[in-house]
Amino acid sequence: MNWVAITFDDGPHPDFTPKILELLQKYNAKASFFCVGQLVGQYGSVAKDIIERGHTIGNHTYTHSNGFGFLSTNKVLLELQKTNETIHELTGLNTKLYRPAFGVTNPNINRAVKKMNLETIGWSIRSLDTTKRSKKAILERVTSKLKKGDIILLHDTSEKTVEVLEQLLLFLHQNNMQSVSVDQLLDIEAYA
Ligand SMILES: [Zn+2]
Repeated sequence: MNWVAITFDDGPHPDFTPKILELLQKYNAKASFFCVGQLVGQYGSVAKDIIERGHTIGNHTYTHSNGFGFLSTNKVLLELQKTNETIHELTGLNTKLYRPAFGVTNPNINRAVKKMNLETIGWSIRSLDTTKRSKKAILERVTSKLKKGDIILLHDTSEKTVEVLEQLLLFLHQNNMQSVSVDQLLDIEAYA
């Protein structure tokens, strides 16, 4: 079987994340959710459901602040710690996986990530699902060069992505590919 990893950033969302979880279950697929800590606090039952259904949860900062790239090491550290604590309180899990907000890295962020012993998880296919592009264009962008080992970046923040996901899961099924959690794909530990 050819493994890829579907990943979702910026959730959990009270409407779209549950729809995505249903679809993943329907197609027997696993995914990874890089969650905003503040939203994990707000939508705890959704975050719990991610874990209970066998998906992986990772850290995507606490506030997803626009100024994230300008924070001091200590402020970044607080963002990462608060998120890990919120996830831990809810699920008992200490996530080791971090997805940079806005894909931004710099020396301050790197120092904080290292101090927390987190592993930065990037992507190889950026869907651009948060832009105005059509569902068709987004699906085409994801599937046209899709190959074994790819990490796909999506966002569980819109109905459009829910619809693209169903088409993507069908595509994987028809092409003898399977989505697994990013830790399974990379053969690393998701939790400490
Ligand atoms: Zn993000």
